[in-house]
Amino acid sequence: MEQSLIIYNTLTRRKERFVPLHAPHVGMYVCGPTVYGDAHLGHARPAITFDLLFRYLTHLGYKVRYVRNITDVGHLEHDADDGEDKIAKKARLEQVEPMEVVQYYTIRYHHAMEALNVLPPSIEPHASGHIIEQIELVKKILENGYAYESQGSVYFDVEKYNKDHKYGILSGRNITDMLNTSRALDGQEEKHNPIDFALWKRAQPEHIMRWPSPWSDGFPGWHCECTAMGKKYLGEHFDIHGGGMDLIFPHHECEIAQAVASQGDEMVRYWMHNNMITINGQKMGKSLGNFITLQQFFTGDHPLLERSYSAMTIRFFILQAHYRSTVDFSNDALLAAEKGLSRLMEAYNHLRKIRPANQSTADVHGLREKCYDAMNDDLNSPIVISHLFDAARIINSVKDGKETLTQEDIYELQNVFQLFLFDILGMKDEASAEGDSYEAFSKAVDLLLSIRQQAKANKDWATSDKIRNELTAMGFEIKDTKDGAEWRLI
Ligand code: ZN
Repeated sequence: MEQSLIIYNTLTRRKERFVPLHAPHVGMYVCGPTVYGDAHLGHARPAITFDLLFRYLTHLGYKVRYVRNITDVGHLEHDADDGEDKIAKKARLEQVEPMEVVQYYTIRYHHAMEALNVLPPSIEPHASGHIIEQIELVKKILENGYAYESQGSVYFDVEKYNKDHKYGILSGRNITDMLNTSRALDGQEEKHNPIDFALWKRAQPEHIMRWPSPWSDGFPGWHCECTAMGKKYLGEHFDIHGGGMDLIFPHHECEIAQAVASQGDEMVRYWMHNNMITINGQKMGKSLGNFITLQQFFTGDHPLLERSYSAMTIRFFILQAHYRSTVDFSNDALLAAEKGLSRLMEAYNHLRKIRPANQSTADVHGLREKCYDAMNDDLNSPIVISHLFDAARIINSVKDGKETLTQEDIYELQNVFQLFLFDILGMKDEASAEGDSYEAFSKAVDLLLSIRQQAKANKDWATSDKIRNELTAMGFEIKDTKDGAEWRLI
């Protein structure tokens, strides 16, 4: 842990040195998906961003408890308090139980995350499994006088809260502007004020997902779940809360208000938000027809896609931008990412074929430190990648006979690639079919070729020819060199 990580805190709007409350333990909460449809690019970005953070913190030696929830109740079509529940609507349209929708899309979400090499969180709680905790939270806020009951629903009293604390500290919005721009929506006559948000909603007779509470048969407001589950699994104060920038307001703003209103102070030390993804310069949206699911990227089955793109191409593409910058997806950009990634993989795979020299003409020292510096500077993955490209250029120069490397330097490059490209950036070598098994596979080919070398030395031409011919038939190109043989798969 001698590395010192600096992260940008959305709450204070500045970069801060990361100091956990209870080192070496780190508590980290990230808002997970609402599981009523297939995961799309909008889901991939926060998942990959916080996977990068999770991997890096773990590498630094922290014991990270990473909580990423599944939202399966209370996320209404228009934020927290208006419209039909997204899961219930899907269930009604498909004539299935809401929990069937949840199960189906949760499994598909896990598959997509696995393909992207996103590590599973330590705990993945469902909102519907924590209704009691959410009711307790609402009770506490009512007790402290920051909420009111109205016709069986409970709303957060934003104006009252704002008198004692400040509402809007995360988003930078102020309450007067919000009052001027918010308009009364249908069903909001229950609220004292249009900016108040629901903590508990009385269920309409046709609403399927409902639980008993002191106020009505109903369901919790969307913002309650993360406050209740964050507290349950990470305590009243924890280190990091993350999510997409689109969640800053109202979701995370409301979470801060709920925490302060219920326990008197804030729960979260560092708020981190990834920026959004656009497609061909446009915001993603169902009405724009550019809502491309991850599965469609993997198969190429979408009118906007010229071909399919692998999960690692998507991951690499996302990591080539800093998480606080916007990312614009296009076919050209994805093709460039695919080429870049294969250039790195080829360079890495070539490393083990390099014959060590007595002296290095290229300087590989400092590479590891530069990669750490970039990671420590608010997870600057594009800079890490640019340093790896510099290393790839050195490897290619050695390949072309323009530079030489000692055994020690070859090992150092191998270790830096292993650490940063694979362990921290979380890339896998897909080109070699099974990625992880590639190493074993190439060692097996090397072994066959060394047996052939031995056979040749023993003038056992039958064995030597058999190995060569059969490998060639399998699609290998074998080239004899003065010290043995080189191979590649064609
Ligand atoms: Zn959340």
